[in-house]
Amino acid sequence: MTEPSIFERIIAREIPADVVFENDSLIAFRDIAPKAPVHLLVVPKTAQYANVTELAAGDAPLLAEVVAVAQQLATEHSGGHYRLIFNTGENAGQTVFHVHAHVLGAGTAADGLTEGSLGF
Ligand code: AMP
Repeated sequence: MTEPSIFERIIAREIPADVVFENDSLIAFRDIAPKAPVHLLVVPKTAQYANVTELAAGDAPLLAEVVAVAQQLATEHSGGHYRLIFNTGENAGQTVFHVHAHVLGAGTAADGLTEGSLGF
């Protein structure tokens, strides 16, 4: 057995997180090291998929739900405008190998994310 990832421990409420959404299949919480005025993580509760490629191949409806929840959260937190990032692989910056979407937003129009920046 491998050690549970940090996200499994958050899902199990073994460590705290600032949870902004939860249902039977997903949880969303604020990133502990935000890279934009709004920086949320949308995380499937299953630990079965390490990255978005595996999720797309294994459970496309769950991936669609991740996107729908990202949109809903962006509507609530960032005027409906957002950037959706799935880091895939260590050299692309992935550090937690439990699939998750980064939802980055400006919060207010005045703070708009710029086109040339990836937000990181
Ligand atoms: P990635 O680098 O794409 O794997 O993203 C992992 C993200 O998880 C990073 O942006 C971290 O800042 C974030 N993170 C790590 N530990 C926690 C935590 N305990 N609570 C919230 N976010 C976390």
